[in-house]
Amino acid sequence: MNILVINAGSSSLKYQLFDMTDEKVLAKGRVERIGLDSSIVFQETGDGREISDVSEILDHTAAVRKMLALLTHPEHGVLADPGEIAAVGHRVVHGGESFKHSVLVTPEVKREIRSLFDLAPLHNPAHLAGINAVEEVLPGVPQAVVFDTAFHQTMPPTSYMYAIPTVLYRRHKIRRYGFHGTSHDYVSRRAAEFLGRPLEELKMITCHLGNGASCTAILGGKSYDTSMGMTPLEGLMMGTRSGDLDPAIVPYAMGKEDLTLYEISSMLNKHSGLLAISGISGDMREILEAMDRGHEGARLAYDMFVYRLRKYIGAYTAAMDGLDALVFTAGIGENSPRIRQSVCEGLTFFGIRLDPARNEAASDDPRRISADDSRVEVLVVPTNEELMIARDTHALVRGAVTADR
Ligand code: AMP
Repeated sequence: MNILVINAGSSSLKYQLFDMTDEKVLAKGRVERIGLDSSIVFQETGDGREISDVSEILDHTAAVRKMLALLTHPEHGVLADPGEIAAVGHRVVHGGESFKHSVLVTPEVKREIRSLFDLAPLHNPAHLAGINAVEEVLPGVPQAVVFDTAFHQTMPPTSYMYAIPTVLYRRHKIRRYGFHGTSHDYVSRRAAEFLGRPLEELKMITCHLGNGASCTAILGGKSYDTSMGMTPLEGLMMGTRSGDLDPAIVPYAMGKEDLTLYEISSMLNKHSGLLAISGISGDMREILEAMDRGHEGARLAYDMFVYRLRKYIGAYTAAMDGLDALVFTAGIGENSPRIRQSVCEGLTFFGIRLDPARNEAASDDPRRISADDSRVEVLVVPTNEELMIARDTHALVRGAVTADR
């Protein structure tokens, strides 16, 4: 059974086609700059064939048509006919409190996603556009939605409530939701498999460190607390996002600099984090390079990133009253031995000890990087959100979805 996974953004559409008999990726690609007359399209197949093109793609429906044309391309495609796609799974950023696990798309589900536009104004409208486009171009093909927030719906109120008047929660659903849930869920399961221990018995902290970064305390396989909040701005320091800050800074800076709501929001989301402190880049690789050249801003940005992550790991270890496994994933977590070492060398109090050679070794598989005498297992587990979405979609269309997700 072939499952197509789609991640629709406001001006881009990324996709992967899986053959679920062996979970192989048949093809993956992206359409960028949707809405412009010079949209860029790229696709590569599992057997290494690549195709790219520049054309006019004015909306998501046109993007879906283009994607299908590439998937069925006589020379560069992998399907003889779009009818070979059994189902489509979509990534949806915000599921609010309505969605505790993945679901098949129905008119009611679409209404709910629409009702959450306020909470995710940049993401949910684009996801709905993607769903509608598939409905139009592939009528009758079942679609599923997998939410970034769903995994965190197990958090207790002590974790998800903000200490502000509860009327704001009741009227406007202002609370912590958490994001990257599909990734935290996936890597925690893979970590338990790798360790050969039941997930239900483990206290785990998963660190998803990419352009966006979050860490999650996972108690017995369920999200217990997570660093991102009502939006993906809270928590760790990120590429261009501030992470935690004193909320009083917002009105104070607005007054002093005469900023509008849009400007302050844009400052905190797009012009803060590593970029603001280094003054050069929000990309960790560039920070590391600049640091090696002696750039002081890059050094401070790096040190702050590490220090803040370490504080979260300490807090979550205390919150769970212990820690069995610490897991690193995503672009920085998977690829930077240096960051992992810097983070862990300040955690010896918890009995965390890395093995330097294991930490330096690169692999696409889950691996242990802690020393044999470390009290806590430290792992690197490559994330695969697309595969998780494909699995959920597959289970839903077979009627085999489990209620615990
Ligand atoms: P993601 O959002 O998961 O694609 O991760 C992007 C982040 O990973 C960027 O900050 C990259 O600079 C960072 N990254 C990727 N490869 C490396 C690497 N080898 N060392 C350090 N950071 C890396």
